[in-house]
Amino acid sequence: MPDILSLSKDEVISALSAMGEPAYRAKQVFDWLYVKKVSSCEGMSSLSKALRDKLAVQYPFPVLTEKIAQESKDGTRKFLFALDDGERIETVFIPTEKRATLCISSQAGCKFGCTFCASGLGGWKRNLTPGEILGQVLHVMRAVRPTPVTHIVFMGVGEPFDNYDNVLKAVRLLNDKDGLNIAARRITISTCGIIPGIERMASEGLQVELSVSLHAASEAMRARLMPVNKKYPLKDLLRACRKYAETTNRQVTFEYILIKGLTCTPQAIDELSTLMRGWLSKVNLIPCNPVKEFAYYPPDTCAVEEFQKALERNGVICTLRSARGQDISAACGQLRHERHA
Ligand code: SF4
Repeated sequence: MPDILSLSKDEVISALSAMGEPAYRAKQVFDWLYVKKVSSCEGMSSLSKALRDKLAVQYPFPVLTEKIAQESKDGTRKFLFALDDGERIETVFIPTEKRATLCISSQAGCKFGCTFCASGLGGWKRNLTPGEILGQVLHVMRAVRPTPVTHIVFMGVGEPFDNYDNVLKAVRLLNDKDGLNIAARRITISTCGIIPGIERMASEGLQVELSVSLHAASEAMRARLMPVNKKYPLKDLLRACRKYAETTNRQVTFEYILIKGLTCTPQAIDELSTLMRGWLSKVNLIPCNPVKEFAYYPPDTCAVEEFQKALERNGVICTLRSARGQDISAACGQLRHERHA
């Protein structure tokens, strides 16, 4: 039996109809789940006790037990959840003046082993259900009230396109006007470069933002940093991304990690400029964040600024991501699935 948050609107209608309930009951249930944001069937007080009990048995809420909640000095909040089988995931809430972004996980662990990212250190355990993905969002929305969550980014633990169907179902529920009603343009899916996922997403007719972890501008450097480059080489990835931009008419964002002595070099500026110039693309620079297992260090501030300016002089649209939540290991590349409470 799926958990209740994994059900689409049509599936809720079918489930209730099988219990002898009228179609309008589905709207009430959706309202309890996504507008009032109850955390149990027991809380759906306008439904009969018998129906609440039946729902709780047949379609339980996904288990996301909050084991740790930490707050950074910059206001970033990180949540560690235990799932029903004991697996753990992390979720990060990042409020700024203009927006409040929630970074969510799509898998317990990750099989892609990028050499600068703590999420892959313990290997891959399993995919999250759509309900476990949405459960993170609802839990944090309740925890940060009255601050609204305005943007969702699939940049936590896991590779979203390695769990495509469940991620897509979660995206549709996030976007559904009777669901969480978050505009597609405020939802970002970030991939390490899974080409079939990019191609599939281009045909979904969704306005979601696509973000690609590029992190190197040559085949050799990308292969060194990201094992996925062996299966999906840089040149094929770029071709798929250009096609995505042409098909959807949407800009593709490329995440680019700045590692002292490796990716922040004059040669990298030339290579990156050549790859990005002249099409609907943008580069988001991320000075690398410390992870104790890796001997990578960020360049100094002057080198970062010079790198950004040089790209801009070359006609590349470019932003610099500020490190948020570093003091609680909540920044990019620092999330894990096996931290213990
Ligand atoms: S960057 Fe993404 S794909 Fe790579 S190891 Fe981390 S979570 Fe996995």
